[in-house]
Amino acid sequence: MSTNVKAFGTEAADADLQPMHIDRRDVTPQDVEIEILYCGVCHSDLHTARNDWGGSKYPSVPGHEIVGRVTKVGSEVTKFKAGDLAAVGCMVDSCKTCDNCKQDLEQFCLNGFTGTYNGKDKHSGGHTFGGYSEKVVVDQHFVLKVPENLDLAAVAPILCAGITTWSPLRHWKVKEGSKVAVVGLGGLGHMALKLAHALGAEVTLFSRSAGKTEEAKSLGADEVIISTDHIQMDSVRGKFDLIIDTVPYVHDLNPYVQTLHTSGTLVLVGFLGNLEPMLNTAPLVLGRKSIAGSLIGGIAETQELLDFCGQHNIVSEIELIKMQDINQAYERMLKSDVRYRFVIDMQSLKN
Ligand code: NAP
Ligand code: ZN
Repeated sequence: MSTNVKAFGTEAADADLQPMHIDRRDVTPQDVEIEILYCGVCHSDLHTARNDWGGSKYPSVPGHEIVGRVTKVGSEVTKFKAGDLAAVGCMVDSCKTCDNCKQDLEQFCLNGFTGTYNGKDKHSGGHTFGGYSEKVVVDQHFVLKVPENLDLAAVAPILCAGITTWSPLRHWKVKEGSKVAVVGLGGLGHMALKLAHALGAEVTLFSRSAGKTEEAKSLGADEVIISTDHIQMDSVRGKFDLIIDTVPYVHDLNPYVQTLHTSGTLVLVGFLGNLEPMLNTAPLVLGRKSIAGSLIGGIAETQELLDFCGQHNIVSEIELIKMQDINQAYERMLKSDVRYRFVIDMQSLKN
């Protein structure tokens, strides 16, 4: 049994997103059904809709920054009841039994987690559909609690942009006085500034866009370095304990490695693929520096972040859009013209 709901998605990599209908299963004993109120727009949505990474399945309904209200729960659900606020991020399932799942690292499930969209749906046998829709049905383990004191629309980006930058900040033990840099001021980058600042770090933004300096400072950056300016780049040589690189496309990492302190780490969260130009390993060897990667965060860590945001009054800077404006929003995202996350008001899908 299932319910047919309104959604927005695309039938092909080169087609616009448009209205469509999808099925949502009836709740099983462990499921929570959520009416989606807001859904953030992540650059990964665009990568998937347009098959940038290969492997996109169509029709594709993106959206993995979901905030809503519980409408129904399964018979064994204890975490939620109808009427509660609830959120869903990038995962809706995993095996729950492998070593990584048992350590709250569901994002690294050894049997593969189920993505909120474009994942293999264990229930339907098809693929999963994301948050650009009226409703979603998710196993309670993958549903998060939302602090009551925050602006709901601005909470949505915490579910992906937030956790993707929080997880490396925690893993590399950023604390009071740590020197952290963020590359790229978009959705992920602006959350990284806010979160690193809230942890007490000294925060630097690397940006190509000179026009973002003042705003970056109001978001938590102590300093802004224009990455194309060699003199400015030289001024931070050897400085950083951790660099979080959010740039979505191939770019030269060598100038950033020079700005790492001894034993420092540059963690990639944006670009997936072969580096170009090639990476010179000498500075890594001579300074025990690391290049690493990081993927979203586990469910417990995501709840930790939501609670931290509740305590510190942290939300995303958003531009609220209608579902029907999604294609223009993707074009603006490609031009780095987002301050700093689009969030879809899902009421607009009912029109
Ligand atoms: P976004 O809002 O578009 O921000 C990306 C920023 O990177 C831009 O604002 C721009 O900042 C900079 N940039 C863009 N193109 C660039 C280029 N060609 N060269 C140098 N800098 C460039 O994207 P987002 O939503 O934050 O996502 C960033 C990336 O992270 C995407 O690839 C997304 O798929 C990925 N992602 C990864 C995970 C994970 O778990 N690892 C999770 C979510 C998203 P400036 O104008 O300041 O230079
Ligand atoms: Zn995302």
